[in-house]
Amino acid sequence: MSESPSSPAKTLTAPQKALRKLGLVRDIDLALHLPLRYEDETRIVKLADAREGDTVQIEATVTACEITMRPRRQLLVTVDDGSDTCVMRFFSFYPSHQKALAVGSRIRARGEVRGGFMGLTMMHPNFKAAGGALSTALTPVYPTVAGLAQAYLRRAVITGLNHADLSETLPPQAHWPDPRGTWSLRDALQFLHHPTPDVSLAALEDRSHPAWIRLKCEELLAQQLSQLTAKRERDRLRAPHLRLQARDLHDRLLAALPFGLTGAQQRVGQEIAADLARAVPMHRLLQGDVGAGKTVVAALAAMVAIDAGWQCALMAPTEILATQHFAKLVGWLEPLGINVAWLIGSQKKKERTAMLEMIASGEAALVVGTHAVIQEHVKFKNLALAVIDEQHRFGVAQRLALRGKMQEGGMEPHMLMMSATPIPRTLAMSYYADLDVSVIDELPPGRTPIVTRVISDSRRDEVVARIGTQLAQGRQVYWVCPLIEESEALDLTNATQTHADLSEALPGVMVGLLHSRMPVAEKKAVMDLFTSGQMGVLVSTTVIEVGVDVPNASLMVIEHAERFGLSQLHQLRGRVGRGAAASACVLLYGTGDSGRLGETARERLRAMVETTDGFEIARRDLEIRGPGEFLGARQSGAPLLRFADLTTDTPLLEWARELAPVMLDRYPPLAERHVSRWLGGKSEYLKA
Ligand code: ADP
Ligand code: MG
Repeated sequence: MSESPSSPAKTLTAPQKALRKLGLVRDIDLALHLPLRYEDETRIVKLADAREGDTVQIEATVTACEITMRPRRQLLVTVDDGSDTCVMRFFSFYPSHQKALAVGSRIRARGEVRGGFMGLTMMHPNFKAAGGALSTALTPVYPTVAGLAQAYLRRAVITGLNHADLSETLPPQAHWPDPRGTWSLRDALQFLHHPTPDVSLAALEDRSHPAWIRLKCEELLAQQLSQLTAKRERDRLRAPHLRLQARDLHDRLLAALPFGLTGAQQRVGQEIAADLARAVPMHRLLQGDVGAGKTVVAALAAMVAIDAGWQCALMAPTEILATQHFAKLVGWLEPLGINVAWLIGSQKKKERTAMLEMIASGEAALVVGTHAVIQEHVKFKNLALAVIDEQHRFGVAQRLALRGKMQEGGMEPHMLMMSATPIPRTLAMSYYADLDVSVIDELPPGRTPIVTRVISDSRRDEVVARIGTQLAQGRQVYWVCPLIEESEALDLTNATQTHADLSEALPGVMVGLLHSRMPVAEKKAVMDLFTSGQMGVLVSTTVIEVGVDVPNASLMVIEHAERFGLSQLHQLRGRVGRGAAASACVLLYGTGDSGRLGETARERLRAMVETTDGFEIARRDLEIRGPGEFLGARQSGAPLLRFADLTTDTPLLEWARELAPVMLDRYPPLAERHVSRWLGGKSEYLKA
């Protein structure tokens, strides 16, 4: 096994590299790599009892073995086990196959049974001579990657399981949240890797088996411990004390805004101001539905810092979004005499140098930009507040880098993270032991609700006609093109075609095209034409430009909406309905060859029609997809929860939440061992 993480990569074999890719470096990592499912090699099934789709092991006698050429060269082997017959097909085979499968041979074969015109069939089953001992445990099938065979992985896991330190890390008196949770870690792992054949497969599958309960408890406890540790560490750090006495700029900005704040905006503004007035770094997530008005809340928080003589940074995930923020903030802040700098990747060298100087000298009180803001050579004079917009789009490392931008006297900046893909508040509060959460749960007044329609792609013409109507009323339209997994090139072809079609169907209308591969200057030019209202229709390939704000746009068409995730659809829909005009969202769907939509796709589209409330959408999203993916990959940039499911395992989460502080206070060595066992080198990431 690859024990030493420091051994040079080139001495690793291909499967060892693949193990690394899966993050399986230590023995314990392998021991915690649990099967996706199991195969049953513990018994022999009679063909007559096998159901279509089952993977079964049979023992039978070969009654025919021949090569046919139609429809292509293949070896056809008929076997009979006394209860029924089955035809096995091999498309690739060697003379040795024919020898082993000669008529009269007794074989043991394992494969998926399918029905068909010719009776039962198996494609490329595994086979060997009949007889020999049967397995005593179910055979695990592990998640893997290309270049890593199951057999190799199985051996590696067994080695890991035998060598890993599985000693107890829970404190002696820890009670269990669930009476089934009393298995030891060692027993639970032994069992899940090699369950005895009498187990209920359903209990393994839905993870309600006691062995699963134990693992989920362990995992949740590790998360809670590491987040709580991070929080306690942060509470010992110091951050600039931003008292509220002098609120000159803050109040002047408030007075200059063309609108009054909603009650929710005022409330979260106070929550943030209270954090800033403490000498420990703020670590707050500001959740608010698309269009709820998070930007102005961030701007007001920035004013508090600037009033006190400090700098602020605002980081956005794309250049277009950063540019929009910059334009908006300059409009608000320049009249107050505040210099705003901006930093984006595609900037001219000369401009960038000037910006860097303004930032280093403190002349720029606010810096708006993309990832460019966290580059090494960007030096702030005195950064006090870092705002991260659309925080779920940033990796954890990037958030950490922004925190590292302030070294002044060992202090840390306050962090405000904003997210328009909210997760239910209660879930956020209990899961993120480490994060305070503010919620804007009210939209600015005067918005008319967006009407959403789901329409088959075959009625595209009607949709185009509808675009014409909107344009005639002086409105503007977004058309988002299908997302084709892993093929930017295809995305582009599609968008280009749609752009051409719409240009032809709508003579005299300026139809623009925006895609991710365009040079930034060109993107900006297109976006400017759309923002200024000259361009009637904007065709766009991807979701990269989420966050743009063009209040005159009143129709959003999303092509192949069935391919988008629920929160993406909601984000996209949120681009319209930003002004007073009635807005609509059309979800075009294609059914492909099957002629019908899949169940989850249908559920997603239904949810979109039924609600425009982001929190409700988040709840449904959680229901449809399960929170592992939801919280893990999307919210934090790293898959954090592998085993527990927060919608069903809430009692386990509560248990872990209560135990974590007790462990940290009374059993610190156990806590440390527990976290390093589960999170290893990843725990650093959890601090962001
Ligand atoms: P998001 O929360 O999605 O980032 P924005 O900050 O972009 O939303 O705000 C959406 C739009 O609503 C902007 O045009 C913004 O100026 C406007 N807005 C924000 N707060 C209010 C308010 N209290 N009343 C009216 N309009 C507002
Ligand atoms: Mg926003």
